[in-house]
Amino acid sequence: MSAPNPGITLQESRLDPKAALLDVVVPAGEAWIGRIAEGQTFRIVDLEGNQAVDTLFFNANEPSEHYSASDTIRLQGALYLTTGSVLRSTAGAKMLTIVADTCGRHDTLGGACSAESNTVRYGQHTKHMHNCRDSFLLALSTSDHGLSKRDLTCNINFFMNVPVKPSGALTFEDGISAGGKYVEMRADMDVLCLISNCPQLNNPCNGYNPTPIRLLVWSA
Ligand SMILES: [Zn+2]
Repeated sequence: MSAPNPGITLQESRLDPKAALLDVVVPAGEAWIGRIAEGQTFRIVDLEGNQAVDTLFFNANEPSEHYSASDTIRLQGALYLTTGSVLRSTAGAKMLTIVADTCGRHDTLGGACSAESNTVRYGQHTKHMHNCRDSFLLALSTSDHGLSKRDLTCNINFFMNVPVKPSGALTFEDGISAGGKYVEMRADMDVLCLISNCPQLNNPCNGYNPTPIRLLVWSA
């Protein structure tokens, strides 16, 4: 069990899914890339619970500017993301603001799983298992946004529970999310969103059972 987090701020949304411009389901283990315009609202739904959603944001008009975990953490003075968190770019600009959150805590530190990290953590036999880095690379290589391997940096893990111990150590714990929980954010600039709906089977971040997510976008 993890320690209670004083930073959790649960907030429901009043937006109606029937009015959404975009409403798609991303199957377990698959990637998604899409543009969200300034002023639009973006929701990620953990449909079945305990699903890690590895996510990167880029300035859609200048993709060399992207989400910065360190600037986001520094400027909000807290490690986890929840209602009120402002996602900052490498230039310190506001990219998105979390406006609703029924899960309450999202990870900024755990990064994306890869063949390399799987091998180090779980053994050589996991080297060829499907991982988030491969999903990110596949999505970038099959889209025409001009992004490549060098653009993959420290990502957000929505719904993932990575408590920091008093010693400073990180652990991957069983999720705090559940089926139907969601996080919603308003875009403060035009952003490109890259998601890997994590296929990880070697730690409890997906409850050892990767499941689909639902993405919705509402107009400004
Ligand atoms: Zn992953």
